[in-house]
Amino acid sequence: MHPFTWFLILYTGSGLMAIASLWFYYEKREKRVFDVRRKRRVFHCVKCGELYSVRKKDVSEGQECPKCGYNNFELSF
Ligand SMILES: [Zn+2]
Repeated sequence: MHPFTWFLILYTGSGLMAIASLWFYYEKREKRVFDVRRKRRVFHCVKCGELYSVRKKDVSEGQECPKCGYNNFELSF
């Protein structure tokens, strides 16, 4: 095989690899952003009407309202 053909194969190969790694990077970043958004818990205070959210894993005990201190439970959609 001609040496130039090998050069061409390597050139296109590395180009494809670069595109694939870029795609992989963005795909991973998007997933991480989505995970952060999903972990946000939204609360609505039944006492004063305040709407607030926290980044907490376990909210089964509820979360206190930052305005009046009333313990509210998570909103479910
Ligand atoms: Zn409140």
